[in-house]
Amino acid sequence: MTTHNTGNNCDDKDCAAQNKRPGAEDQDLLDRQALQSRMSQIKHKILVLSGKGGVGKSTVAVNLAAALAMAGKRVGLLDVDVHGPSVPKLLHLQGTPISGTESSIYPVKMRCGASMLYVMSIDFLVRDRDAAVIWRGPMKYGAIKQFLKDVEWGDLDYLVIDSPPGTGDEPLAVAQLIEDADGAVVVTTPQEVAVQDVRRCVVFCKQVRLPVIGVIENMSGFTCPECGKSVKIFGADGGRTMAEQMNVPFLGAIPIEPEVVQSGESGTPIVQSQPHSETAKTFGRIVRVLIEPELRSAEAQRQPLRAGGSMKIAIPVTGGVLSSHFGHCERFVLFDVEADGKTIGQRQELTPPPHEPGTFPRWLHEQGATIIIAGGMGSRAQSLFSENNIRVVVGAAGGEPDVIVQEFLDGRLETGPNICDH
Ligand code: ADP
Repeated sequence: MTTHNTGNNCDDKDCAAQNKRPGAEDQDLLDRQALQSRMSQIKHKILVLSGKGGVGKSTVAVNLAAALAMAGKRVGLLDVDVHGPSVPKLLHLQGTPISGTESSIYPVKMRCGASMLYVMSIDFLVRDRDAAVIWRGPMKYGAIKQFLKDVEWGDLDYLVIDSPPGTGDEPLAVAQLIEDADGAVVVTTPQEVAVQDVRRCVVFCKQVRLPVIGVIENMSGFTCPECGKSVKIFGADGGRTMAEQMNVPFLGAIPIEPEVVQSGESGTPIVQSQPHSETAKTFGRIVRVLIEPELRSAEAQRQPLRAGGSMKIAIPVTGGVLSSHFGHCERFVLFDVEADGKTIGQRQELTPPPHEPGTFPRWLHEQGATIIIAGGMGSRAQSLFSENNIRVVVGAAGGEPDVIVQEFLDGRLETGPNICDH
């Protein structure tokens, strides 16, 4: 008589495979699916990164989140800095008890103007901070993954993530786990050594295919309240220069202000406590750029052109004039720009490969393009160009490509709304 073993006693391989408990790989997949489902409730995810600690990354993350909330958005602020979580300190939330279930933890709610801000920090969960300091890479990865997966945010317009500094395991985990992040805001101070760290950070973003939304230069000069004289304590314009050299947008410069320190100590972000300060106004401008991505290209256009660096401008054309639908253009005209940044050099006309998402940015990058001027372009396409190191200028009206490029180089190009942002 033939007998059949069942369940765990079965020695048939297929049967055993069906009955096995999830192994580490399966569990990782399940966790990632749970994480993706959580993240799908959040429209925009923005990582705040810095090449090293102490440059004001957490201060920037807190104020960006608060400014977005004050602009009427539903915002979460997540602090995943395992070694030095500063968000609870900056918002006076240390030791706040948190609630949750077996699979969910609820963020702490705090009022921010007329809106609420939802805050979660790894500091609320890790009781033994000294032990966390010696966590190795896989433990940190596991903690960050579980943390991202379990926080119950509900529907959010924005999640601002204060990532650990540097380009090591922890920011890598965050960048890999949040697959559809809008991109990174990179914080630096003006001095050369910090700027080099940020350069690494921008390269890191490119390697993990995370778009760089832009660079913020923090601690950028100090205006003496007594005599009104401006002093460049940490040097001048390093972040702006670096952004231009790396071909990423520059979002703004925040001065050293004693009120920033005071607001950190009082637990109220400066955008809320001192809305008329220089710093609050700068955050207001940066947040407008985050909310309206097309302003990013207007901002990019205002940036001084790189002197000395090679610049190649691509214009999509149909029937010899700028094509309003860049994805359906007949050809691209590519213009080399002379080292003075003002004179058109060699001109080439090329037929692009068949259009599919991602093809044009890659192909134009291969042709050496560093700028594309278009009538309109969706935000996803803009991110793809940015990933390929190509700066996007949208809102140009139709016309001959040579005229458009000369106007652009002369700073006379007028841009309107992004006309085909579908
Ligand atoms: P990070 O997250 O990069 O380590 P923090 O945001 O914790 O840096 O800031 C470090 C310190 O610098 C804090 O005491 C903060 O109040 C202060 N700080 C940050 N930005 C400014 C600024 N613009 N002006 C004055 N102090 C600042």
